[in-house]
Amino acid sequence: PGGLAVVPLASVANTSKPQAWLGKKPILVTSDQGVWYAVVGLSLKIALGPHELRVSTDEEAMVHHFSVEEKDYPEQRITLKDKGKVDLSPKNLKRVGREFKVITGHKKFWSETPDTDLDFILPSKGKISSRFGLRRFFNDKPRNPHSGLDLAIKKGSLVKASSSGTVLAADNYFFNGNTVFVDHGNGLVTMYCHLDKFKVIAGQPVEKGDVIGLSGMTGRATGPHLHWSVMLNGTMVNPELFIQ
Ligand code: ZN
Repeated sequence: PGGLAVVPLASVANTSKPQAWLGKKPILVTSDQGVWYAVVGLSLKIALGPHELRVSTDEEAMVHHFSVEEKDYPEQRITLKDKGKVDLSPKNLKRVGREFKVITGHKKFWSETPDTDLDFILPSKGKISSRFGLRRFFNDKPRNPHSGLDLAIKKGSLVKASSSGTVLAADNYFFNGNTVFVDHGNGLVTMYCHLDKFKVIAGQPVEKGDVIGLSGMTGRATGPHLHWSVMLNGTMVNPELFIQ
């Protein structure tokens, strides 16, 4: 859970790029050294045990199998003094509900591109202050597990695109603050939160390493940091898996 299943599908010599689906979700397919692979993002909530990947090549339709094994993530307890960001007012609750739909749309975004660069750079140089998958408690109330990687960096630090792509959105949200989404194609999307300033606008193409914003602590943040998330086939996965 929270990881990736890398499933070899076919030889590049035998077929053009296959298509793959997990349930109804299209899955990223990429080639490496003459072999097509499906790279499946596994939700933190995915059922343990066997799963089926439907695949279609030039020649045939088939089913590939992979199995998800248990993974334990550590626990983190946070005390927030600003109760307004824990127990939401009706007005803020409405706003969060509205934004949830918009953010979910960005996370599930799919654009077909010929190839996908899975070799990411860290978006900023800084100490890792919170890892993906931490089971979090805010003021002793259980919350969703940590869905990204936190880098502790001073306000105003450069935040860079971890790979090339197109800016999907640069917007302000209640929890995530000023946030940039970058689409890398084939269901791979990155998200950069709590920014102080935007350096890009929606629709803008970016190269790996381009500055997309300056870090800060907008939204729900206990201090200046960058929260960086990686989405694959609509699910949040461990960003560290994309860093060499
Ligand atoms: Zn975070």
